Amino acid sequence: MKAFHCDRCGGLVYFENVQCLNCGRKLGFLPDCGDLSALEPGHDGWDRALTPRAQGARYRRCRNDLDHHLCNWRIPEGDPHAYCRSCRLNEVIPDLDLPGNLERWRKLEAAKRRILYSLGQLGLPLGGVPAENRPALRFRFLGPDAYGALPLTGHFSGLITINIAEADDDQREGQRIRLHETYRTLLGHLRHEIAHYYWEQLISWTSRIPAFRRVFGNEEQNYEESLGRYYFYGPAANWPDHFVSAYASAHPWEDWAETWAHYLHMSDTVETATSLGVMLRPTHPDAASMQANPALLTGQDDPFDSILAYWLPLTRALNSLNRGMGLPDLYPFVLPKPALEKLRFVHEVIRASRNNRIHTLRSGS
Ligand SMILES: [Zn+2]
Ligand SMILES: [Zn+2]
Ligand SMILES: [Zn+2]
Repeated sequence: MKAFHCDRCGGLVYFENVQCLNCGRKLGFLPDCGDLSALEPGHDGWDRALTPRAQGARYRRCRNDLDHHLCNWRIPEGDPHAYCRSCRLNEVIPDLDLPGNLERWRKLEAAKRRILYSLGQLGLPLGGVPAENRPALRFRFLGPDAYGALPLTGHFSGLITINIAEADDDQREGQRIRLHETYRTLLGHLRHEIAHYYWEQLISWTSRIPAFRRVFGNEEQNYEESLGRYYFYGPAANWPDHFVSAYASAHPWEDWAETWAHYLHMSDTVETATSLGVMLRPTHPDAASMQANPALLTGQDDPFDSILAYWLPLTRALNSLNRGMGLPDLYPFVLPKPALEKLRFVHEVIRASRNNRIHTLRSGS
C-alpha cells in the first residue's frame, strides 16, 4: 500500500486514520479513486474531498461508521448504498451482543479493507461474472455456534469465512506456536483465503490450467487425503527446498494460496517502501547485493525480477531494524528457487488479468 499524506498539512497519515494527528483535519478513504483524502465537512451533510484526485467531490459516511465507528471508507455521491464498497461485501458479521466481538470485528474489517485496497491496486475483479454463474467475493465473520463448535476459516465459492477468534492476539499466537508457523496474521489469513477465490476465477475456468499444473503440480490429487496426510505426518523434511511455507506442501491448492498470499505481502510492502522513497545504499564497499533503488520501479506492470531485486534487500534491512528493537524478524521467510518461480507465475497471472488476457474455457479462446 502506498504511504498517504494529509492534503492539508502534508503529514504522513495511515490508511486506518479518521483524522490527521498533525493538523486535526478529518480524513476518509475514497474507494472510487483509491486515496485517503482530507475532507471538508459541508452544511448539507456531505463531506467534500480535498485530494486532487477528487477535488470537491461529495461523499457520505458508511453505515458501519455511523453505527459503530469502525469504517473510514466513504460512499461517493450517486452511489445509493448505505454501506461502503468494503462493508457491503459482508454476509455475516459477529454477534455484537457478545463482549469483545465489536473489537474483534474492528480488527477483521481493518485487515479486510487493506486487502481490498490491494486487490484494487492490482486490478483484480471482485464481482465475479454473473452471466457465467461465477460468484462475487463475500465475507462471513463467524464465532462459535450455539453448541460451542468453532467455525473453520476457509473459502467456498466466493464466500470467505473467518473464525473471529483469530482476531484475539493470544489465540492466534498460541495457534502459530502450536502449528510451528513463522507467520500468522489476520491479513495473512485473508490473503490466503482470497487466493482460493482467485484460483477459481483466474485458473480453474481458464486456459491457464495446464501452465498451473506445470508449476504447482496436479491439483486433482485427493484434497482431503492430502491434508489428512499433512496433519498426521507433518511436512516432508525437504519442504524448504520447494515451498514458500510448510503448509504450501500439503496440496497444490494450498501451495497456490500460500504463494499468492506471499505475493500480496511483497506487492503491498514494496508499494509502501517505494512511495516513501526508501533507498538502500549500504556504506560497506562490497554490499552491492544490498542496494535497492525505488526509482527503478514504476509501480505499473514492473517485471517480476525488478520487484524481486528491490524486495530481497529490503527484507534483509527490515529484519535488521526489527532485531535492533528486540523483535522477531519482520520477514521470517527464505525463498527457494521453485517458490520464486511460483511467485513469478502468480505475478504473470495477475498481470494478465489486469490486461484482460485471461481466457475462460467456456468462451473457447
Ligand atoms: Zn494534516
Ligand atoms: Zn464501510
Ligand atoms: Zn487454503
